[in-house]
Amino acid sequence: MKKYKFQILILLSISLLTIHPVHGDQTGTLRTVVIDPGHGGMDPGAVSGGVQEKDLVLDIALRLGRKIRETYPEVKVIYTRNKDVFIPLYQRADIANRNKADLFISLHANYVATTTVGGTETFTLGLHRSQENLEVARKENAVILLEDDYSTNYEGFNPKEAESYIMFESMQSEYQEQSIDFAARIQEQFSQNLQLNNRGVKQAGFLVLRRASMPSVLVEVGFISNPNERKFMVSEAGKEKITQSVFDAFKSYKKTIENRSNFAILAENETKTETHSLPANGSASNETGPQAENPNVKPKANVSTSNTEATVSQGVTKNPSTDKWYAVQIAATQKVIDTTPANFKNEKSITRLKVGNINKYVSGKYDSFAAATKEKNRLRSKFPDAFVVVVENGIPSLARN
Ligand SMILES: [Zn+2]
Repeated sequence: MKKYKFQILILLSISLLTIHPVHGDQTGTLRTVVIDPGHGGMDPGAVSGGVQEKDLVLDIALRLGRKIRETYPEVKVIYTRNKDVFIPLYQRADIANRNKADLFISLHANYVATTTVGGTETFTLGLHRSQENLEVARKENAVILLEDDYSTNYEGFNPKEAESYIMFESMQSEYQEQSIDFAARIQEQFSQNLQLNNRGVKQAGFLVLRRASMPSVLVEVGFISNPNERKFMVSEAGKEKITQSVFDAFKSYKKTIENRSNFAILAENETKTETHSLPANGSASNETGPQAENPNVKPKANVSTSNTEATVSQGVTKNPSTDKWYAVQIAATQKVIDTTPANFKNEKSITRLKVGNINKYVSGKYDSFAAATKEKNRLRSKFPDAFVVVVENGIPSLARN
């Protein structure tokens, strides 16, 4: 019997690792979000003090979807359920995969046997590091026992058996980093906006997240077993605050991934433009500077956010004739990006230079082409399109020795 179980686990792990269609938008635009209110129909989820988890999370899910639609009409919001119906766990991720969702948000409320435990936590898929986290996954996965053919649909997975969870150890989703990033934003918002204990970002083996081919999280918005939290969660103000927190996390996550990708795409276009169209030592000016290739992108007002830029401008004004230096251009975009290292793969000496309506981001400040070339060679591992520029009067142009 033991041996038999082991074989099932091995087979299961192999099949899970191979089922992994790549979804999501290559350009990084967040176009589709799937909101998954846990449980439903014959499965009430956690029940305490007359409150059923399935009702609470459906309410929050619908509020969240409305907020997203109101603010981002271009984003497609899909619910795995928008009424009180039973949806098997495996179908929930399938809905997200079929719709090529860019983000999957599963909403739940927690339950433990004691009434004093409380707080919020957000899970991403992975192997639990504590018994406590395993218990949460066990509870949320137990619903499959209500499904027909669960042993077929989950390839022999037994939600109650600790052994069944071993497979999650080998499941390193390619979306793990983004999932954790989004989860961290949710917990940050919760800790700012709610008076609930922040239990943090955790990993555990949730079947509902298992097959999702996009960044995905499972949010436990509070403990239904804790009378104070229950009261808060069912109140209008409570539901609104919880929803707003998840929405704010969504907003900042969306903005970040879209900034990152636009930045990379424009950087690439810009590099090609410069390399092919500018003569050696040609200098760009406000009049002749390269424009973004996408005519649909409206130019933005020049908003100065970085100290670095201010320094450059001052230098230009004070002593324009000697202000010539070399640097490595790593990106160009119409967007104004804060020059903090976090936005530039941890590079610490980024300067933003504005040419026309394009913001060029360069690294370092060197007095020779050779020194800048050395820096370019180092940076190419992070920014494959990096190239050396000579900056004169605050305007960078392609430099050739
Ligand atoms: Zn649940």
